[in-house]
Amino acid sequence: MTVSSTDCEDSPNAIAETVLDHVQHMVPEGLDCDLTLDSSLREVGLDSIMQMDVVSRLEEAFAMRFSEESLYDMETCRDLVDCIETVMPRGSDGRPSVAPVPLRPKTPLPPQAEREILPEHYDVTQFPACVAFEQRVAAVAEAGIANPFFRVNPQVNEAIATIDGREVVSYASFDYLGMADNPKVVAAAKQAIDRFGTSASASRLVGGNNTILETLDEELARFIGTEAAIVSPSGYGTNASFFGHLFSQDDLILYDDLAHNSIVEGLFLSNARRRAFPHNDIESLDKLLCDIRSKHRRVVLVVEGVYSMDGDYPDLPRLIEVKRRHQALLYVDEAHSIGVMGANGRGICEHFGVDPGEGDFWMGTISKALGSGGGYLAGRKTLIEYLKYTTPSPVFATAASPANTAAALTVIRLLREGPEYVTRLRDNARLFLELARDAGLNTGNCQDMPVIPIILGNSMQCLQVSHALLQHGINAQPILYPAVPESASRVRFFIRANHTEEQIRHAARVLPDCIAASEGVSG
Ligand code: PMP
Repeated sequence: MTVSSTDCEDSPNAIAETVLDHVQHMVPEGLDCDLTLDSSLREVGLDSIMQMDVVSRLEEAFAMRFSEESLYDMETCRDLVDCIETVMPRGSDGRPSVAPVPLRPKTPLPPQAEREILPEHYDVTQFPACVAFEQRVAAVAEAGIANPFFRVNPQVNEAIATIDGREVVSYASFDYLGMADNPKVVAAAKQAIDRFGTSASASRLVGGNNTILETLDEELARFIGTEAAIVSPSGYGTNASFFGHLFSQDDLILYDDLAHNSIVEGLFLSNARRRAFPHNDIESLDKLLCDIRSKHRRVVLVVEGVYSMDGDYPDLPRLIEVKRRHQALLYVDEAHSIGVMGANGRGICEHFGVDPGEGDFWMGTISKALGSGGGYLAGRKTLIEYLKYTTPSPVFATAASPANTAAALTVIRLLREGPEYVTRLRDNARLFLELARDAGLNTGNCQDMPVIPIILGNSMQCLQVSHALLQHGINAQPILYPAVPESASRVRFFIRANHTEEQIRHAARVLPDCIAASEGVSG
């Protein structure tokens, strides 16, 4: 393909050049056409998803955002240029004041017959990404920093863990209520193995269903307050496979900017248009819906109950008001809010006093506060019945193991008996948050939830602080770019109901010292 910004030849136009570069980068290999500003994006082989990718790349390159309205009338490369020109800030000379970040050139492939097949094309140990990764890990080791990832713990992942032969207080597990070694939960899991074996041995639809799975579906739905629920072997898989199942090219998915990777993967697997809205910014979301709701068939808003990096949560009543006004649907991932939010741990609806019937898709996991491993979807009976027979998880994935099923079921029953686990969790989270704030630490937007970030904004410093904490008998994980932006890199604390007050006070006491010590080292 050849590229020419014909109309700009007299006055070379950086915007036009950059747009053409980005479009060309996305054009499927082998499509032979001359790319000009008048080329139709669709005719050069860019489907709606690829067009959105070009848009995101251009937004990054020009540090700007396309207006929503403009996106839907975008047909040619020139339309992209016009939109960028409209919103770009200008200098006193009237020219755009932001220089585009150039696109990394795509290495052109020589014709097949001349192509040398290099070892990096067939030898996994020479894949450039693997080699570069190995080098990065070595560089961190050379800097004298122990690798904080894949730390091995030879015992149950409880408030106390053993790392490198030393007992440490762990803030790295999201067993918020301390249920994974609760004697009643462990006993129920063992009994389930005795009765049902170690595996469900088939997908739920065709042979793997059993009485405890059915009971868990029913009791979970009752706990959350929905008509029905279906449990699956993986929370990740539930998110990743859901969106492509119900949403396609005429639909729009609007998701919070900080949505979990499993949600984002799920969106990519659907054919729907997708757009992130600024984190927890319901006003922006409302405005977006005013502009574009009418151009789509189904529109689904996707948020989380508690955000797992920040410990904050959306304003659910406002979200429901907006969803209702725009006749949209609402999907809430309650992975970190079920068992955590609300007086009895029934999740974000209980916290806000909202009827779960107001939302449409209540997704969650049984892997965190419910002390097990797996996911679920809850909602109206008609919907869940349909999903049971059609979504990949119950149809194609081996059902959750009997031990996991029984564990989650027992936790729900324990939570129904009284709120003391949840209350203790809330008290501990409040205490740590208060102490951290009093010490002048940056806890971001954390709102009284047991996910508490200590934002340092420097990956190297996070590694050092995590390492120093370990020397003080505290295991807290650094969260680095690309999981969060570099300026938001952090050490994250998961607080649990069974941390003692002394453990929490000790962590909050040594944390400022570890940070101060790292400031000298990391510059
Ligand atoms: N959603 C969110 C918000 C999560 O944090 C996670 C896992 N950490 C998942 C989904 C995936 O759930 P699971 O680990 O149960 O597969």
